[in-house]
Amino acid sequence: MKHTPNPQTLTGLAALEAQLAQDLNFLELPAKPWVPERRHEDIPVRDVVVIGAGMCGLAATAKLVLTGITNIVAYDAAPAGLEGPWVTFARMQTLRSPKTLTGPALGLAQLTFRAWFTAQWGVEAWQALDKIPKNQWMDYLVWYRKVLALPVRNNVRMTGVAPVGDLIAVDIEGAEAGRVLTRHLVLATGRSGLGGFAVPDFLQGVDRAYWAHSADDIDFDALKGKRVAVIGAGASSMDNAATALEADAGSVDMLIRRKEMPRINKLTGIGSQGVILGMHNLPDAWKWKFFDYTASTQTPPPRSSTLRVSRHANARFLLDCGIVAVKEDAGGLLVETTQGPMRYDFLIAATGFSNDFSDRPEFAAIAPYIRTWADGRHTPDMGPPRQGMSEAPDLGPHFEFRERVPGSCPILAHIHCFNDAAMLTHGKVSGDIPAVSAGADRLVRGIATSLFAEDVETHFANLIAYDTPELLGDEWVDSTPSLHREAAL
Ligand SMILES: Cc1cc2nc3c(=O)[nH]c(=O)nc-3n(C[C@H](O)[C@H](O)[C@H](O)COP(=O)(O)OP(=O)(O)OC[C@H]3O[C@@H](n4cnc5c(N)ncnc54)[C@H](O)[C@@H]3O)c2cc1C
Repeated sequence: MKHTPNPQTLTGLAALEAQLAQDLNFLELPAKPWVPERRHEDIPVRDVVVIGAGMCGLAATAKLVLTGITNIVAYDAAPAGLEGPWVTFARMQTLRSPKTLTGPALGLAQLTFRAWFTAQWGVEAWQALDKIPKNQWMDYLVWYRKVLALPVRNNVRMTGVAPVGDLIAVDIEGAEAGRVLTRHLVLATGRSGLGGFAVPDFLQGVDRAYWAHSADDIDFDALKGKRVAVIGAGASSMDNAATALEADAGSVDMLIRRKEMPRINKLTGIGSQGVILGMHNLPDAWKWKFFDYTASTQTPPPRSSTLRVSRHANARFLLDCGIVAVKEDAGGLLVETTQGPMRYDFLIAATGFSNDFSDRPEFAAIAPYIRTWADGRHTPDMGPPRQGMSEAPDLGPHFEFRERVPGSCPILAHIHCFNDAAMLTHGKVSGDIPAVSAGADRLVRGIATSLFAEDVETHFANLIAYDTPELLGDEWVDSTPSLHREAAL
């Protein structure tokens, strides 16, 4: 980054990259590394390991690097360029959010999607762009990682986490395998990364040949001519229904429990820096009130996604249609609903994700100690408990887990839950695009504070040992003796 080409002599992406390099240089970023090296029984110890290199993992890794915390690594189970949902199970055509969001840019204009896009296709194309095609968003994230030279290792899955004294042992397998020691661990594992798919009881035990979760790898070609049901009225339900219809499904029924489609995107509607910066400092009762209300009003699917379904004559929206039971019958499914029995060949459950990580083997060593909102942070005066919220982890101010029983697993204070499960404690700063930079900032401030405090003796020793003189002794003449002489006369 030191000797950068003059941005004015370049064009396109090369010019943008040179401008970004210059901006970073002017801002003295990345900051100089400052965390003392640590070893454990002669094994090198990482300062931070990040699990997940989707948008949140990349933003966190970038912020750490820019802050001078450089002995870090991010692992992602997915191959490079396939992290997150964008080109795998996201079945929308464009992002749901507006194109102008600055996402993971961390306050650097040249790191925004807009800068990346206009550098390649120009201002007119930017003005003509409606929403960002999802594949292009992935291309941008690939560039983001490349241009910042982030230390990401792909095809590496985290399979276990365990305390080792004041360190965390992270078991990995895949392209790299073994045990890595780290001082802090960031779980940027996405929506399904703590719990997994939320699967309703009525689907438990039903043969997977007849149904899939919306985030599964679904063979849509196999649905040609078939009777398909999709549960839910959210964005993913529409995206999956539309994909089935476009793959020539015989019919697609949207089975929607509510009497009315949710129509207003409440939380997005009140989005502001106040919400981003202030939500996590509100009293718990207020946090609960905001998210309980949002959960009860629900987020509508985007208009374009809904039209993508309703434009097909063989699509039906069945409202007030709760599912009572699902049985395998006559080579398909018999679905008992509040509107009567219905027969389908295949069902897609767009039922979201769960925060309940107690069944995940990789968290087995720490899960019993992790405090959730159900462990006392939610109190009866806030209203009835709500699944999905009650099981959310009760996090500290920097996304760190807390212990259910004080003293039972102190290392939890060094494991940071930087994913969607943090929403109830922190607001929406570690899942969606709009505020991920603010989330990364909050996270890294906490990690930096913790690392500095833990190494305070070393930093103090460095203070004592520092002996590079500013003054060489030849900058002044000591006149004190002559002054004394004059006073004595
Ligand atoms: C279909 C869909 C569409 C969305 N559209 C929008 C939108 O338009 N606008 C918006 O603001 N938000 C949207 N979101 C919400 C949010 O922006 C995305 O979920 C986004 O991907 C969140 O980024 P993330 O880094 O938290 O998770 P992800 O992008 O999911 O990344 C998590 C990564 O962690 C890795 N991982 C998980 N567990 C392990 C492990 N044990 N070991 C190693 N790696 C692991 C995964 O491989 C994955 O790459 C959408 C979400 C979905 C599901």
